[in-house]
Amino acid sequence: KPVVAIIGRPNVGKSTIFNRIVGDRISIVEDIPGVTRDRIYSSAEWLNQSFNIIDTGGIEVGDEPLLQQMRQQAEIAIEEADVIIFMVNGREGITAADEEVAKLLYRSQKPVILAVNKIDNPEMKEQIYEFYSLGFGEPFPISGSHGLGLGDLLDEVVKHFPKKSDEEYDESVIQFCLIGRPNVGKSSLVNAILGEERVIVSDIEGTTRDAIDTRFTRDGQDYVIIDTAGMRKRGKVYENLEKYSVLRALKAIERSDVVLVVLDGERGIIEQDKKIAGYAHEAGRAVVIVVNKWDAVEKDEKTMKEFEQKIRDQFQFLDYAPIVFLSAKTKKRIHTLLPMINLASESHHMRVQTNVLNDVIMDAVAMNPTPTDRGTRLKIYYATQVSIKPPTFVIFVNDPELMHFSYARFLENKIREAFEFTGTPIKIIARARN
Ligand code: GDP
Repeated sequence: KPVVAIIGRPNVGKSTIFNRIVGDRISIVEDIPGVTRDRIYSSAEWLNQSFNIIDTGGIEVGDEPLLQQMRQQAEIAIEEADVIIFMVNGREGITAADEEVAKLLYRSQKPVILAVNKIDNPEMKEQIYEFYSLGFGEPFPISGSHGLGLGDLLDEVVKHFPKKSDEEYDESVIQFCLIGRPNVGKSSLVNAILGEERVIVSDIEGTTRDAIDTRFTRDGQDYVIIDTAGMRKRGKVYENLEKYSVLRALKAIERSDVVLVVLDGERGIIEQDKKIAGYAHEAGRAVVIVVNKWDAVEKDEKTMKEFEQKIRDQFQFLDYAPIVFLSAKTKKRIHTLLPMINLASESHHMRVQTNVLNDVIMDAVAMNPTPTDRGTRLKIYYATQVSIKPPTFVIFVNDPELMHFSYARFLENKIREAFEFTGTPIKIIARARN
């Protein structure tokens, strides 16, 4: 998905515009139990194209001086975005701070679209002309408070999206990435999987790559590791603004079939791990949980069970994800990882036979009658699998409202018992039969 960043000095109205563009999507995202997410980025859609948008102003960078903050925002935008919206305040004209931001943006190769905010009525349009002098071409008048001009602005933004590249790898290649907070051992794991110390790519000014893709074959299966960890040390920005490294992880997740959620067995689970794991789940990817540094843990026969229980308690939304305990350092149990990735990927792609599926559903209903609501009972007519990655089932019913969360969950469990869906989320959609 393309990424759009909004940048500009404080109080030009970035967050207002961000919220307008994003609409009610944020609340949808936050409805998923156990998943918390920051509001500085979100997915959005325009002209049937979905993209991710970042509000660089939505972050507090402590008491650092303004200029420093803006510099960081610009760096993030330049690094992460495919298109940058540079926002200024039409009521105040060009300020020194705007010029500073402009200077930073000149250096980027990314398309920059100039949005002049607070142009609340047509008479004020005159005020946009002075902004031509910033050197980013035609300024787009907008009004965050009145919601004006956004359509034209987004039309322009969408025009600059990179052309959709064809699928980079063919279907038979399993693409996977590793996500996790800093220092859980992602880079070490990548090296352990690949079996050699790779040369660190040198840091070339102006190049922007989100991840290093490494293709390899093991036991006849082709894989691509999408490695974001190796890129991390490029700039201080990511250490200061950890939140933004999440965006990079999201991009890697989107390109992956299987996501390895890496935890630090030595340090244990913290809130940040939960958040990161939530992204993989939300994206509908297959997930394998990897507990690294298991060599460094003092253990007895109960330690692993206890850790596993902690994971199950803290990551309830990932109850389908298998857990692998290993050590990147000693390579112990590293060899179990690829088979687990294969299994998760197979589940993610699996199609079940319609007649078998319907038998399973009918057996489930016979065992646990459907719920009733105000005298009406949920009737299930027929179920079918409509897609893979993740497997998605539509169940035709008399009234979808009657399909309560707990009953859908029950059906999901029955489907899981009947078929081997290890490592993949599955979706159940109730639809009225017409
Ligand atoms: P990343 O930030 O997730 O990529 O983490 P790194 O791969 O850079 O590793 C962070 C630190 O953890 C380094 O000092 C590694 O040597 C150490 N480390 C990584 N894997 C293991 C492991 O399996 N066992 C132990 N004891 N240390 C590890």
